[in-house]
Amino acid sequence: MSDGLRARIVEAIRANGPMPVSLYMLMCLHDPRDGYYATRPGFNRDFTTAPETSQVFGELLGLWAAHEWIAMGKPAKLQLIELGPGRATMMADMLRAASSVPGFIDAIEIALVEASPALRETQADRLAAWNIRHYDDLDAVPPGPSVIFANEFLDCFAIRQFVRDGNGWRERQIGLDRSGKLSFGAGPPADIPPDLIPVGDHVEYAPALETLVSSIAKRFRQHPGRALLIDYGPDDRSPDDTLRAYMAGKQVDPLAHPGAADLTADVDFPRLRRVCEREGITVFGPTQQRYVFTRLGANERAASLAQANPVRADEIQQAVHKLVSPDQMGARFKCVALTPHGAPAPPGF
Ligand code: SAH
Repeated sequence: MSDGLRARIVEAIRANGPMPVSLYMLMCLHDPRDGYYATRPGFNRDFTTAPETSQVFGELLGLWAAHEWIAMGKPAKLQLIELGPGRATMMADMLRAASSVPGFIDAIEIALVEASPALRETQADRLAAWNIRHYDDLDAVPPGPSVIFANEFLDCFAIRQFVRDGNGWRERQIGLDRSGKLSFGAGPPADIPPDLIPVGDHVEYAPALETLVSSIAKRFRQHPGRALLIDYGPDDRSPDDTLRAYMAGKQVDPLAHPGAADLTADVDFPRLRRVCEREGITVFGPTQQRYVFTRLGANERAASLAQANPVRADEIQQAVHKLVSPDQMGARFKCVALTPHGAPAPPGF
């Protein structure tokens, strides 16, 4: 019950003082008893992701994975890793499409990194025909050549937010107003990491981005690998104040429904690039989703699906249009491909 979580957050603030936005976000999303992902992930209700919009999304990524497996010299064993697979729609579509590539299915081990027990169950049901393994984090996935995917995963990372006060910065915190309601405030002066590019008086960053990138870098130093990260966020500066909450398809106040609403924040793509470069990873992109997916053949695939299924032709075309149209998901979503140094540019980049 979300009111249970709200009561515990209020109690924690009464006892310890205001909490950073990151802790609030972690509790709302991942609290084992009342957190959003632990209890009520609302796919197609609170939000609809690209793989849930059109099967073409996952199919093209399945072929991308097989292409990169071939480019890596067809290793006999490949960890096909997905971070935050949600309802496993994308993985199911990827596997169906990639089954047509000789040898690929025999080489893969399917590794799903998933925090939510409820979603682990959904994923196991959805992929019942496949041999899957669940892991708590990327470091737990067995070593070896890998292709790693993450769609709308980085935007769930807990963010720290900062507000400019004169010449300095203060960390934004969540405390209680006079009536005892959760409210935002500014904490004591705090340094922001030197690699942020603030544009106005707000800036935010996700500390977990470094952890993820260094774990990808560690894999790439030991074995061939590729990663494809897809998410939304600006590509020329750091996000300012982008904490958002969604419930039943509507944007709501992020403090109003702890644990019952999905919380997200934009991804800092310029910082992602810099963190990767520091770790010695080659970065392709960020490139808008519309370019990557039209280059991979989204329109052609939509046309052939529509032809094979004339009754649903319009629906199929419209769903793919949503993925690639600049005023829908095509421009706001960016793709980033990561490789070890010296690898050829992956398809779409
Ligand atoms: N990729 C899916 C789901 C996106 S929602 C899609 O595009 O439809 C985010 C997913 O990441 C959910 O499965 C959520 O439970 C999972 N997740 C969020 N934070 C996580 C973390 N820190 N570790 C593991 N999984 C996480």
